[in-house]
Amino acid sequence: MSGTISVCCTACGRRHRYTAPSYPCACGAPVAPELDPRGAATEVTHRAWDEEWIGLRCAACGAESHWPRPELGCPCGTVLCVPVDPVATGRAGRVPGSRVPAHRAVPIRTARDAVTAAVLYLRGLGHRNVRRADQRPLSGIGLAAPGVVVQVDPTAGPVPARDVECLWLTAMAESARGLHFSLAGYAEDARARADLLDVPLFVLDPTGVPRPVNAPAVALDATAG
Ligand SMILES: [Zn+2]
Ligand SMILES: [Zn+2]
Repeated sequence: MSGTISVCCTACGRRHRYTAPSYPCACGAPVAPELDPRGAATEVTHRAWDEEWIGLRCAACGAESHWPRPELGCPCGTVLCVPVDPVATGRAGRVPGSRVPAHRAVPIRTARDAVTAAVLYLRGLGHRNVRRADQRPLSGIGLAAPGVVVQVDPTAGPVPARDVECLWLTAMAESARGLHFSLAGYAEDARARADLLDVPLFVLDPTGVPRPVNAPAVALDATAG
């Protein structure tokens, strides 16, 4: 089956077994990409990775949703893009024997996992059509859905106040609300600014669960289904 394949690291030659992640469709059924057992993994560079999304069609309801392309973090430090079957991807359906709870978390090993965790959380808030933002943020990855502009910062340093201000301005320009997700937390002045501007801040813990870290985020989290 192409739900699990062997992936060879391009840098160190280590082989990994990789199982396709399954994502929750809006209808609740799991959707998963078809992996290509004959394809070769390629190294992911930071310039390209946030632009690669795949469309997955739900076998149960026919809806198409977009998710970050699968990738794998090798212990040697290389991030690998997992080959996806280009023919089958458009009609990917159920992974045999798997059931995905509506709001599951993804363990965070790569920057893309951080994006996926944020997308899952946004869907829990009712934002079904999350896409990549047209405007790139100062750092990290920009996501957008009707009414919200989202910045995901997968870097290891605390988010500066400037990022919160820029996110707020971008959101204002689009009559949307800005939400920020960080792996490494926020600088003291960034938190103060976010409280002032009513920008919800979340920290993604390594298990992929977004934790609200200020009052606007706590209020928003209470509305998550
Ligand atoms: Zn490796
Ligand atoms: Zn569906």
